[in-house]
Amino acid sequence: MNQSTTSLKTSLQDFSAMGQELTVGKYTLSQIEKLVTRTPFYAYDRQLIINNVCQLKTILPDEISLHYAIKANPHPSLVQLLADQVSGFDVASRKEMLLAIQAGMPVQNISFAGPGKSESDIESAITAGVILHVESQGEIEKVVRIAKQLNLKADIAIRVNPTFELKSSGMKMSGGAKPFGIDEEQIPEVLKRLSLTEINLRGFHIFTGSQNLNAEAIISAQQQTFCLAKQLLELTAQFTEEKIDYINIGGGFGVPYFKNEGKLDVSKIATNLQTLIKQYEDSLKGLELIIELGRYLVAEAGIYVCKVTDIKASRGTNYLVCDGGLHHHLANSGNFGQVIRKNYPVVIGNKLNGKATEQVNIVGPLCTPLDILADKVLLPKAALGDYIVVFQSGAYGASASPQDFLSQPELSEILL
Ligand SMILES: *Cc1c(COP(=O)(O)O)cnc(C)c1O
Repeated sequence: MNQSTTSLKTSLQDFSAMGQELTVGKYTLSQIEKLVTRTPFYAYDRQLIINNVCQLKTILPDEISLHYAIKANPHPSLVQLLADQVSGFDVASRKEMLLAIQAGMPVQNISFAGPGKSESDIESAITAGVILHVESQGEIEKVVRIAKQLNLKADIAIRVNPTFELKSSGMKMSGGAKPFGIDEEQIPEVLKRLSLTEINLRGFHIFTGSQNLNAEAIISAQQQTFCLAKQLLELTAQFTEEKIDYINIGGGFGVPYFKNEGKLDVSKIATNLQTLIKQYEDSLKGLELIIELGRYLVAEAGIYVCKVTDIKASRGTNYLVCDGGLHHHLANSGNFGQVIRKNYPVVIGNKLNGKATEQVNIVGPLCTPLDILADKVLLPKAALGDYIVVFQSGAYGASASPQDFLSQPELSEILL
């Protein structure tokens, strides 16, 4: 590598470049293509993840433990990297749990949430010593029964579905009727039935939602969460002398995907957390406070890369047809829960300094009009073989996409 690396500073991205080409971990896109032998691929930048997590930990109060929710990106080397950066993993399946264990995360720092855990999920978690975040009364009974069969005592935390919600959130996961957690108002009854000789109650988990860019909304939910946590602790004290170990106050920190979105003001949230910690000092004494984040830790450190395989015009519209699309990146195609499709930030990864002169529609190879990579974007004039790069792609990418749909060639992922 004889050309010096330059920094590609746009409003959204922290990636570097070499000449006209984007780099990930000092490798240019064409070098990465050679490493993995083909496009399309996802590439994750190790240093960007480390920087991001370090910066966040500096901003958040010291009393907060940071967990990573593996479902955002379960790529094994990325999970391995994060094992050294965060203090716990949240998993939502047995396979994710095994990934977390194999990455060396201590089992007591792994929590297993999610509705509908199977008998074998529960059996594995109890055997490993992972903490089960129980989502219903029925699940508690299942856990107690399976633990008895194993002659072990299970560690659980109760996931609570509060009466409040996380406002202006991309995905609301609390308030009203939800499949997640046990309704706040049912908790007294659940605690009454809980036999603490049979089970270790380690904590409460209050997760209200996801993909939120509004610091005020997160602050408001956290205020209500602390208040609820205090009530839950007082309630628990009526049933047992045993101390609860932690409150997981959820997460919900979003990342900007679209043009009109701005970065979340985390320092505002941190300042308010500091106030809350002080305000609730007496009730929360000795407790661990956990924030669990998925996309916020990894989304901006990942790109999806595919190649232009055909260029055509149809009745006045220019199309770039690529070898990748919806089957690898469902969220970018607008089909992962979005109401209106918007473009993720897209560039031609080998023409970074090129003047944007052409409006194009970028599509994938699938025989469906849903296979859109970008709609009406202004880019430098593209040629066959150019790299189309989709930013903000480090979370809910490969594992959240229907990769077998239309039986296209396999996708690669690499952390550099
Ligand atoms: C999905 C999920 C997360 C991660 O959400 P992000 O938006 O990626 O931060 C965290 N906790 C729970 C319980 C989840 O279901």
